Amino acid sequence: MRKLEHIGIAVKDLEQANALFQRLLGSAPYKTEVVESEGVRTSFFEVGGVKIELLEATRPDSPIATFIEKRGEGIHHLAFDVASVEEKITQFSADGFSMIHQKPKDGADNKKIAFLHPKSTNGVLVEICEDRQS
Ligand code: ZN
Repeated sequence: MRKLEHIGIAVKDLEQANALFQRLLGSAPYKTEVVESEGVRTSFFEVGGVKIELLEATRPDSPIATFIEKRGEGIHHLAFDVASVEEKITQFSADGFSMIHQKPKDGADNKKIAFLHPKSTNGVLVEICEDRQS
C-alpha cells in the first residue's frame, strides 16, 4: 500500500451531503460522477492530499443502499493507492484475505479498483485502487 487515497462515506442525499461537507471542509467537490455498474453517484473532495468520496445509491439494489439500510449513513470504506491492483489481488488472496473482486474493475475517479471483504479485515471494507493509464 502506498498511501491512504480516499475515505468513502455512504450518504442518503448527495446534494445535502455535498453542501454539508463543503461547509465542513471549506472547499467544493472537485467532481461528481455516476458509476452505473456499482449503482452509485459519487462526489469527491480533497483535503491535504486525501480525498473524501461521498456515495449515494442510484437504485434500491445498490451496495450503498444495502449498506445504509443495515448500518445507516457513515464511513463505508478506506481506499489505499497501490502500484498494481492485479498484483495485490494475487498477493492478498495468497495471504488468506478474502477478496470481493478477483479481478480489477473500473471505479470512479479514473481508477482500477478491487475490494477486500470486511470479514477478513476486522469489519473494515478496504478498497485498493490504481490510476487507470490514459
Ligand atoms: Zn472508493
